[in-house]
Amino acid sequence: MRNASMRPYLSKSRLISAWQCSKKLHLEKHHKELGVITSQMESAFAGGHQVGDIAQQLYGTDQSVEVQFNFKTMVAETKRLIDNGADFPIFEATFRHENVLIRADVMIPDGDGWHVIEVKASTSVKDYHVLDCAIQDWVIRNSGINVLSISLAHINNQFVYEGDGNYDGLLLENDLTEEVRAMEYDVLELVAKAREAVSGPPPVIDVGPHCNKPYECQFISHCWPMDAEYPVTGLGGGKARVAGWVVAGYRDIRDVKRSEISSEQQQRIHRVTESGEAEVLPGGKETLEALPYPRYFLDFETIGPAIPVWKGTRPYAATAVQWSCHIESEDGGIRHEEFLDISGGPPMRALAESLIACLGTSGPVLMYTSYEKTVIKGLAELFPDLTEALNEIISRLIDLHPIVKNHYYHPAMLGSWSIKAVLPAMVPDMRYAGLEGINEGMGAADGFLEAINPDTDVARRAELEEQLLRYCKFDTEAMVQIARFLAEQS
Ligand code: SF4
Repeated sequence: MRNASMRPYLSKSRLISAWQCSKKLHLEKHHKELGVITSQMESAFAGGHQVGDIAQQLYGTDQSVEVQFNFKTMVAETKRLIDNGADFPIFEATFRHENVLIRADVMIPDGDGWHVIEVKASTSVKDYHVLDCAIQDWVIRNSGINVLSISLAHINNQFVYEGDGNYDGLLLENDLTEEVRAMEYDVLELVAKAREAVSGPPPVIDVGPHCNKPYECQFISHCWPMDAEYPVTGLGGGKARVAGWVVAGYRDIRDVKRSEISSEQQQRIHRVTESGEAEVLPGGKETLEALPYPRYFLDFETIGPAIPVWKGTRPYAATAVQWSCHIESEDGGIRHEEFLDISGGPPMRALAESLIACLGTSGPVLMYTSYEKTVIKGLAELFPDLTEALNEIISRLIDLHPIVKNHYYHPAMLGSWSIKAVLPAMVPDMRYAGLEGINEGMGAADGFLEAINPDTDVARRAELEEQLLRYCKFDTEAMVQIARFLAEQS
């Protein structure tokens, strides 16, 4: 029989990777370099850390201890604390059983045993969270610890921050002890599957919906065919259907037979891609020409962190922190106004007031997707005395996105009508990728949070401020150019 210490080492996150896809785990172990870590993944990772820090604040006592991060000593340090009769909360207690290594976010002494809490940044309990807790429970109990109960704590999205660092009520705890104890066999099966994935040959796994669930896999650009001129993924629609085409060997949108496509939108993408030319459908020009002046092109940047920053805000609620507006007059003249406050104080009131002043009382307010409407509604909720003025703005909103979607498609858009896909097709000189530093929404949110962090030095803050202003301004400038382009098509 193989000695336990000779078995490949597995962490809990590797087991969860194996649960999602054994090929993912194999690549993580042997070909990490093929993965692409996106800014969304990095942001989610950082958010998880922040929630972990808050959990330590909420569950901590004067005596609580965090086992310091050093894989070589963490297991021994945990054992030393428990053997010495620790009667205080322990954070990051670390255990190993059959070479499966886990760290428990929170362990609280309870009589002659322990209450274990796993902390997640999500807003509900997911099925893989139960499996996650079952792995913890299996390893900790088999390390000789009396686990009396195990819970999952997640973000309470109804929590409203009252300020002064008081986050009592931010986490909701769910006792999963019963479900977890019924899953021991699942854990053993998963450990065996993970060992096979790590030690054996590369598993043959087709792409499919599992590539994005529960986590977006970092190997998507490796497994999904992206090197064709018009990758088949650009047909969009259901992941399972597109994966079916990939498995059938199709690489380019043009490889798919027309008879295999049923959705109208996919037929349109396929038709235009085959033609190699942009398709302009009648009506867009007339719709845009009918809009009176002055025309306002508006865009917000928002943040929605798991841990609310300002009094009165909720976890993950989109909070406006910046706007940009280009104003076009009938003679073709353009002027620009903007708002950004990186002082660290709540910017929402000044943001809303300056927005009302900028937009005046007449003229269409163009946005790209209905997100701006949601953001303005959020401002009205925060400031009831501004509701009337903000509702007036809402009544003037015109969404440019469906106008573009209904009247224009270019093969280079690869199935997307996002502003980032549309702009280079219509105005090749304008590219988001050409923006230095911040060049997408998630980057803007992270950049803003970094800018208001007191630990950020003055030079970096100034750099971020410049990038944020440039990015948001670029968005509304892009909208002006898109509207003009469409209005010029005959
Ligand atoms: S992209 Fe899909 S198939 Fe490839 S490793 Fe990731 S989950 Fe598995």
